[in-house]
Amino acid sequence: MDDLDAAVCGTHEGARYWCNKRDNPGAVMASMLWVLTLYADVVVTVVAVDGGWSIAHVPIYIFFSCLALIAQLKTMFTNPGAVPRHAQPLIRASESGIPETICGRCDAYKPPRSHHCRICNRCIVRMDHHCPWMNNCIGANNQKHFMLFLFYTLIEATYALALILANVRTGYVYSSSTVAGLAYALLGISIATLLFVATMMYNQVYAIVTGIGTIDRMRKRGPKGNFAPVPWVDVFGVDPWPLYLLPTDVKYRDFHRVMGYKVATWEISPGPVAVPRDEPPSPPLTPSRPAVTVEERPSSTEDGALDEPLVRPSEEV
Ligand SMILES: [Zn+2]
Ligand SMILES: [Zn+2]
Repeated sequence: MDDLDAAVCGTHEGARYWCNKRDNPGAVMASMLWVLTLYADVVVTVVAVDGGWSIAHVPIYIFFSCLALIAQLKTMFTNPGAVPRHAQPLIRASESGIPETICGRCDAYKPPRSHHCRICNRCIVRMDHHCPWMNNCIGANNQKHFMLFLFYTLIEATYALALILANVRTGYVYSSSTVAGLAYALLGISIATLLFVATMMYNQVYAIVTGIGTIDRMRKRGPKGNFAPVPWVDVFGVDPWPLYLLPTDVKYRDFHRVMGYKVATWEISPGPVAVPRDEPPSPPLTPSRPAVTVEERPSSTEDGALDEPLVRPSEEV
């Protein structure tokens, strides 16, 4: 049963559903986020019943908290952009002059601006960081959902803060010390959430505007990395803009351009390799591949969760 479950759900290639089962602290933190959100919903309702603010605020507040939780689930269970083992560069190094790199852990082509995550155990396209609150990597394919989660959580925290501060300003007296305690605990949670989430949102906007993700910024790779701003449609897709505000799946006009790789179908098919007649065979992505030299870096890295092998320029001609 466990083997079947592992095949259906996981971060490995071929898993039908993407889910990270390798990080118990991440699962705990993602659950804590639900507890905090539901706590806030309960307190907003209790204080409204107490008379602290209009009952009309309750459905509005719960509406935004539901959107935040749905966005969190979408972030958690969406493949963030894991690179398949049979990925190939869009343009071969021999044509582009740009060195190809392979990941020594995945033993596969590693597109530009991707990183290997040791928790997901996959290379992730445009990986920003591995977020324990989402129990998943934030990458090219789920950045929209993560930003929506931040956006709706910012609204939630600001809303709760405004309601409680309005009571402070008017000198509202809660019916019991328990209700007062619940409200002031929510005040503290809201302030902490606001500061933390605003910082995370700044990091995401910075990553889009400059093309330098959180990992690259922490490693100070920006000036050398030849980065460029990320087009808006590469984050939010080509849907009509109202869908930008909903955690719907992202549709790209050219998926492979956004991901930075293509997949050679003749390498996926089992059995004898079928090579199109007029096309030269592509070199196999195996350790014996002569085009690329890979060096393994020691497993300890600066953030303890991320790793990337050192790669030398391709020698392919
Ligand atoms: Zn990798
Ligand atoms: Zn990860």
